Amino acid sequence: MTFRARHLLGIEQLQPDEIRTLLDLADSYVDLNRRTIKRTDALAGMTQINMFFEASTRTQSSFEIAGKRLGADVMNMAVSQSSVKKGETLIDTALTLNAMHPDLLVVRHQNSGAVALLAEKVNCAVLNAGDGRHEHPTQALLDALTIRRRKGRLQRLTVAICGDIAHSRVARSNLLLLGKMENRIRLIGPPTLMPAGVGEFGCEIYDDMKAGLEGADVVMMLRLQKERMDGGFIPSEREYFYRYGLDAEKLAHAKPDAIVMHPGPMNRGVEIDGTLADDINRSVIQEQVEMGVAVRMAAMDLLARNLKAERGRAAAGVMV
Ligand code: ASP
Repeated sequence: MTFRARHLLGIEQLQPDEIRTLLDLADSYVDLNRRTIKRTDALAGMTQINMFFEASTRTQSSFEIAGKRLGADVMNMAVSQSSVKKGETLIDTALTLNAMHPDLLVVRHQNSGAVALLAEKVNCAVLNAGDGRHEHPTQALLDALTIRRRKGRLQRLTVAICGDIAHSRVARSNLLLLGKMENRIRLIGPPTLMPAGVGEFGCEIYDDMKAGLEGADVVMMLRLQKERMDGGFIPSEREYFYRYGLDAEKLAHAKPDAIVMHPGPMNRGVEIDGTLADDINRSVIQEQVEMGVAVRMAAMDLLARNLKAERGRAAAGVMV
């Protein structure tokens, strides 16, 4: 198995063989998760702490379930009731938790780069569960697993990523992953929501949905990230839906077997038509959630193996 990483901070640091290793292992966890007894002991005796400084439904619950299914002791830090509210810095909070000897720290933070900074201060493996508009690696990995299982491959596909690209860490991690696996990527959205310099990633840019969706194998929709907007980026939600919201008419421009994805949370009637989101013949949104647990199990399992090996080497070094 090839997986060298010590932390999972972003897709940027992963090589294609590491991505494939993680997805292969995640496939086996999908099978386990469909059984009645879902337990293994990959993380038995290890402690996982989840620190979410930003709201989360899917990511936090799936990291918790993933850790428990792997046999770890899982603690969710209630940030809103913690000393963070008394002014403690992220680093001081991390050092405090580090003193309790966790083995895995899962962190979501509103500032880009905060999770990488924290990883430098602790002795355990750190997983980025989303940092600002920077990266959300496990989301891109679960999207990749969903695509690979549905399309039978993860290369030479045309993937359209649509909507609020500028504020989306999901778009950025997906761009990196799909690019590394040699896919054709199209970004579709209003020019106000397209980040400057995005052309450097080697993708095609469209501001017209129908043109951009032409012949796409995968259509990935994004939420308007209002919490990261500090001004008027769109005229109104109604007009946004008219021009950029995915409905059956616009989807008809993609390939007949194109799949529809969304990382959640969805705003029905803003970026996606509710009926289409629920159409099990086109939408794989619930499958993405299922893949999320498996991918997070695989990521923590691989990092725990590397951590155990590193500690084993360190212990051997001390004895020599
Ligand atoms: N849940 C994803 C994230 O945390 C997408 C979103 O919030 O729109 O980035």
